[in-house]
Formats: sequence, structure tokens, C-alpha cells
Amino acid sequence: MNKSDILNLLLLPDPEPLYQEADYCRKQNMGDDVYLRGIIEFSNICVKDCHYCGIRSSNTDVKPYRIPDNEIIETCQKMVVWGYTSVVLQSGEDPFYTTEKLTHLIKTIKATTPLAITLSVGERNEATYRAWKEAGMDRYLLRFETSNPKLFQESHPDDDLTNRLECLEILRRMGVQVGSGFLIGLPNETLEQLAEDILFCTQLDLDMIGIGPFIAHPNTPFSSQSNPFSPDIFYKTIAILRLINPRAHIPATTAFDAIDPKGRNRVLQRGANVFMPNATPMAYREHYQLYPGKPCISESSDDCAGCVKGRLKRLGRTIGNDAGHSLKNPLR
Ligand code: SF4
Repeated sequence: MNKSDILNLLLLPDPEPLYQEADYCRKQNMGDDVYLRGIIEFSNICVKDCHYCGIRSSNTDVKPYRIPDNEIIETCQKMVVWGYTSVVLQSGEDPFYTTEKLTHLIKTIKATTPLAITLSVGERNEATYRAWKEAGMDRYLLRFETSNPKLFQESHPDDDLTNRLECLEILRRMGVQVGSGFLIGLPNETLEQLAEDILFCTQLDLDMIGIGPFIAHPNTPFSSQSNPFSPDIFYKTIAILRLINPRAHIPATTAFDAIDPKGRNRVLQRGANVFMPNATPMAYREHYQLYPGKPCISESSDDCAGCVKGRLKRLGRTIGNDAGHSLKNPLR
């Protein structure tokens, strides 16, 4: 597909045939298994100030926390019991977590559980990524958020798109499975830009593509901005991404449930094949809200584990019992 094909699909008045095609493509290429990757948001401290983010450094209303290592490891051990096969360790860009500290944590999780490990802790240098890979890190998530340098600058005052893309390239070259993606509907985004972001994911040859709608957070410079697109555009974006990336893992990200209580279910029926249940211990959950209306804030991790299984069963999907590594690049 080229940009104009994508624009035509985004403008389709009746998206149902597109959704059905995407679901069929997902079934043919990825099967009915959904991979459960439990996410632990282990620190909400961030040195950066992204204009859309609820835990940005300038938001002093947030109660800072760091989850002690032993609590992270205990949670990982519970994940094995819940049937999860991967842990996603996510935080703000928190310099407290040095190369050595996270190397130690990765090694401990690898020594005590069979979980695959995904890290999502922002932009670091090559030596750090290498140390974590050698310690056992399997995957890395770093969203580019928008492929338009001007929009990127307007929403990331202290960041640089070139550097972020360089991080993705370094990770890819060293054989780490790479996940990235974008926000749908940043202020001033056009439908043409959205089509370019969709194409850009394919150009990056990503192992995993994670996207979510922009939702204005009240304590940010974007508080009064609204998303220029309707929910149909969000779902069409997922479906198009599946069609042009048939073998990529695509998660049903939590933000879809913030715009529609059945949002993640719909995404799973329109191309997605990965679910990331919240496994952050309950005491910390309310303090990690990148956007308002985040679901599962008052549930325990046990509740989330039970809920996801029921949800998948009702959708006629099965749970993947292997690690769900990259199908596009099996050597990574
Ligand atoms: S989006 Fe990420 S890097 Fe930006 S402020 Fe939020 S946690 Fe920090």
C-alpha cells in the first residue's frame, strides 16, 4: 500500500470489511493465540517533559515511587503462575536505574523465572543496551510517537527524533527484538501525517507495533487539546497496520480501553494478537497515569490475570504458552 491507498482506507465510510480482512490476516499469519505480556511500571520518575504525559517532570502533583527490586521479582514469579510468558519492565526515564542496576535486575529475573524480558525505559546509549542484552533482555519498546520532526519537537521539548530513531537502529542491529509505534491524534496531526506514521512503522521493520490514541491529560500543556480523529480512525489504523505488517506482533494497548470500555476487545478483533495485563502492584498503580481514565487502577494484579482470561475466552481466542518471540526475525 502507498500513502494514498492508506488514506482511502482511513476515509472508508463503512469500515467493517476492513476490520474483517484484518482479523482474517491476523488469524492466517499469527493464529488465534494471544500472548500475555505482564507490565510492571516500576518507576514513575522521569527527567523528560513530554507535553502529553501525566508523569512528565514538571507535573509535581504526581507522587513519585520506585518499586523495590524484591517486589518486582516477586511479581515476576507470580506472573508465571498466572500464565504470562513475558514481563515488560517500564518506567519513566529515571537515571537512578543505571546500567548496572538494571543489568542486575534482568539477571535475577532470568535466573528465577522462565519469562522473556522486555524493557521500556527510554533512550540510552549503545553500551547500556548491549549490557542489558547480554544480561538477558529479549526485547525493547521505544515509541517514536510521530515521524514528523516538527510535531515531534512540539510535543517533546527536550528530546530529539533523530536520536530516538538512532536508538531503535542500534537495538535492531544488535539483535534485540524491537517494538515501536506512535500516538494517534497528537495536536495538529493531519490524516496525511497519520498515513505517513503507518507507513513509517513498516519501513522500520518492527517486530512489534504498539500504538494508542492521544488523550489529553489535565496536568500537561496539552490539557485543552482534543484528539482530531474519531475512534473509527483509531481502529482503522490498527487494521491497516495488520494488513501491511502481517507477521508483526500488535498489542491491544490499554489506552484503547480508556476511550471505550470494549476498546481492547475491538482491537483484538481488528488485527491485534498481544495483550499486556497490568501487573504493577496495586499500591503504585494510581501514580502511573500517562493519560487520564486509565483502566485497572483499582484492580489487583490477580484481578487483572483473571479478567484477561475471561475476556479472551469470550472472544474465542487462546492464550499463547510460549514466549511469543518475533515471527518476522526469528534470529533476534
Ligand atoms: S512520555 Fe515517557 S519520556 Fe515522556 S515524560 Fe512521559 S514517561 Fe517521560
